[in-house]
This record gives sequence, C-alpha cells and structure tokens, in this order.
Amino acid sequence: MFNTESYELGSKRSVIRELFEYGKEYAKIHGSDSLFDFSLGNPSIPAPNCVNEAITEIIRNEPSVLVHGYTSAQGDFSARKAISDSINRRFGANLSPDGIYITCGAAASVAITLKAVCERADDEVMVFAPYFPEYDVFIKNGGAIPVAVAPDENFLPDFEDFEKKLSEKTRAVIINSPVNPSGAVYGEATVKKICAALSKANEKYGRKIIVVCDEPYREIVYDGKTVPYIMNYYDDAVVCYSFSKSLSLPGERIGYIAVGPKCSEERRLYAAICGAGRGMGYVCAPSLMQAVISRCVDAKTDISAYEKNRDLLCGVLESIGYSFVKPDGAFYLMLKSPEDDACAFSERAKKYGLLLVPSDGFGIKGYVRVAFCVDGEMIKKSAAAFAALFDSYKNQCVAQDLPRT
Ligand code: PLP
Repeated sequence: MFNTESYELGSKRSVIRELFEYGKEYAKIHGSDSLFDFSLGNPSIPAPNCVNEAITEIIRNEPSVLVHGYTSAQGDFSARKAISDSINRRFGANLSPDGIYITCGAAASVAITLKAVCERADDEVMVFAPYFPEYDVFIKNGGAIPVAVAPDENFLPDFEDFEKKLSEKTRAVIINSPVNPSGAVYGEATVKKICAALSKANEKYGRKIIVVCDEPYREIVYDGKTVPYIMNYYDDAVVCYSFSKSLSLPGERIGYIAVGPKCSEERRLYAAICGAGRGMGYVCAPSLMQAVISRCVDAKTDISAYEKNRDLLCGVLESIGYSFVKPDGAFYLMLKSPEDDACAFSERAKKYGLLLVPSDGFGIKGYVRVAFCVDGEMIKKSAAAFAALFDSYKNQCVAQDLPRT
C-alpha cells in the first residue's frame, strides 16, 4: 500500500496534460499548422539578455561564486540581500535578508507558506475563484480546507460572498493578482476592501488571518496598471514570488518567500517557513540561479509581445461575437462558453484544432481559459477556427429553434 492521498493525486489525469497529448496526435494527423494550442502558460518571450550574460560570466570568469554547490538552506545571503534591497527600493517595504526564503518557484513558495501557517485541523484557506488549481493541492498538503469565494462579473472578488465565508476557521487568504486564469488585476480599491474585511474578521474572531500573495505575474500588466504591494496595506502578509514568468525562467525553478516585517510573531513565522521548507525538502534552491538573481533581480522582460497578443486575440474574439472580459494582466483570458458545459465546449473546440482549458478546474463553470503566451501569427491563423467553432453553435441554435412540424 502507498499513501492514498498521494496516489490519488499522482494518478489523476490533468486536463492540460490531456490537451497536450491530444495536440501531439492532432498535429501528426492534420499537421501542426492547423493546431492552435492555447493551453499552456509557458512564457513565449525570451529571458532578458542580462540572464544569459550573468550565467556566462559566472561560469567563465567567477570561479569564486559557488556555482554548483549547496547554499544556506534558506538561500545564499547575497541573493537574499539583493532581493530584499530590490523590494525595499521598489515598494518602500522594510525587509531584511533574514525575511527572505529562496525557493524553487512560486509553487514551492505557496506550498511552504501554507504548510508553515496552517495549524488546526479545521483551518480554512480562502481562494478567490477563478483560481490556480494547484492551490487546492497546496492547501490540503498544509492540512487545511480550501474555501472558494465567488467572483463578480469582472472576475474580482464578490465581497458579499467573501465576508459571508470569513469565520473563526479562516487561517489564510490567497491573493493572486494578476490572476491566472482570468488576467484580472486587483487594484488598490479591491486590495483595501479585502484588507478591511480581514481586519474586521481578525477583531471579531481574535485571530490574525495571513494574506498569502502569490504574484508570479506582478510585472505582466498592461495599459499602465500597477499591482499594489500587500505589505503596504496589511501587516500579516507573506509574498510568494517567482521569476518563472517575470524573467521567462520557468524551467530554472527560482523564486522566493518574503515574510512581511510587520507580521505578528514575524521571527516565529520565518522559522516555521524554514521548517516547512526543510520538511518538504525545499532547501538550497539552485545555486547558479541564486547567483543570477543577485545580478538580475531588477531586470525586465519586454512584455510588449504579450500586450500585442492580448489586443490581437481580443479583436479576433470580439469580431466573431464571443463574450469575455479583457485581461489587464498575465497572459490568460477567460472566454465564455456558448454552452453551459465548458468541458463539452473544450471537446468541441478540439475538433477545430483549438486547445482551450475548461474553467471547471479553476473553480468556476462555463468558461475556457485561453493562454495567449503564444506566437502572434498563431492567433491570426486561429481566427477562422474560432469563427467556425462559434458558427457551429449558431447553426445548432437555428436547428433547435426551428418550429417542429
Ligand atoms: N502560481 C500561479 C498563479 C501560477 O500561474 C503558477 C504557474 O503557472 C505558479 C504559481 C507556479 O509557478 P512556478 O513556476 O514559479 O512554480
């Protein structure tokens, strides 16, 4: 026998993985030109030059840098200092390197943080739907229960539902903005409203609810939007960050946890994070990447290609007649399914070579996620397939609406 929960988790089929396999078969039969894969959130723009230059420089000329060795469990001091200095410069926080824990990306950051903060068997962790499906896994792994808050029509939190679900069991709330999968960005008003509700609940239930801000898409925002830094609005805050998307480095597995300096029992919380990282084997993140981050922490990728793709995709979908909310950030768009069952819509889309992820796994029904971190040419070429898919519903409606004789 094996661990039942782990077995079930490992043997469950992922929808995205299935779409990926289907895409390979489809391309074999129909050719890759008629395959429009919008399923994956893999960055499509290269890492900034600074990254490759730093790697080359470190390997060729800096033998003193610990290239392939172990670092401190929580990360090399100079990398942690580069990160805390950058946060302080950009957001006016008051972090020290001792509040930073370097991880193998945001997934590890969130998993570690939840393992560290959840304490009671009935602890609940709230997520705002639609949400990144792995949160369910990380929350359960932390021994807590996920509670989803419904969205409003713009994919921002429905505050009535949020306040109704806050209780003495609420241990933490995950905020992910810009949001995977909707591309919504929580502006200052939304963040302030969330924090106000939490402060009220803290008072009412005598507990400090922790905000876990998962923000791998922080820098991917459009039209001059900005993402408020949570520590400037709420004391009990932990930021989970990753360079996977901001520097296009998902395969290098590098990110961090920043523990807010004003957290209650901040030193104990940091120790619990170190302990959770240790218990889960997430220690000594890749040393070469830590050295790279020390040099490139403020580097930026040119996100104009994503913005162009967003506008292109929105134009295509709008001209056909689809319903969607224009994303303000990240590289995802939620498209309303013309039928209630988004899985059936995604199945039908496959026949047109379109790989779209049904929203059920993201905690809402009736949408598909379109990832536009793709080649812009593919978006242009996909227009005919999107139109034919849409028409297939119009024809169906016409057929259904015909009076029966
Ligand atoms: N959180 C969100 C919202 C994501 O979309 C992703 C990846 O797509 C992650 C966390 C995991 O990121 P990482 O590659 O840094 O582990």
